[in-house]
Amino acid sequence: MQQDIERVLITEEQIREKIKELGAQISEDFRGKDLVVVGILKGAALFCADLFRAISIPAELDFMRITSYGAATKSTGVHRVLLDLDYTLEGRHVLIVEDIVDTGLTIKFLKEYLSQRGPASLSVAALLDKPSRRKVEVTIDYRGFEVPDFFVVGMGLDYAEKYRNLRDICILKPEIYKS
Ligand code: 5GP
Repeated sequence: MQQDIERVLITEEQIREKIKELGAQISEDFRGKDLVVVGILKGAALFCADLFRAISIPAELDFMRITSYGAATKSTGVHRVLLDLDYTLEGRHVLIVEDIVDTGLTIKFLKEYLSQRGPASLSVAALLDKPSRRKVEVTIDYRGFEVPDFFVVGMGLDYAEKYRNLRDICILKPEIYKS
């Protein structure tokens, strides 16, 4: 796997530090509130697990899976819910946890979809933000890092289902994306 990496963009250490900060901020903001953390599979699974452990207040954890990217690096633009939540959201504070906000279409879809369930609030945490590719305006309440317009992998993010277990956020060698 290591031989496929062109360059490391964000190190494991930087990610660990940032998650600690985000967890502390979220704990402060939602103290005394009924918080449900919703991880978006599969990309956000690792970030969500680490972020959830960095939250020091009582909270529930749930997951959703929706279609986004296939095996390629382009958005399908189609969103379909493959796995829905177990918990009711009525009157509760919901924190959506995403791996990366790119065009913003996924977060827009999720916010519209979940807001129909009457949450008291809906916030977004994203490990990465790629604002140069935004198609719709979205607010990221808890943001890890801004990244340039490269397709990145690692820390849960894949290319054709591979590289999710890289500990750093990386750019692969161009020949990997072409093959
Ligand atoms: P959006 O709807 O904001 O365009 O895209 C969100 C989803 O696209 C992310 O959850 C992620 O699965 C995928 N995505 C966007 N950019 C990248 C990237 O650079 N690398 C990887 N692996 N996935 C990406």
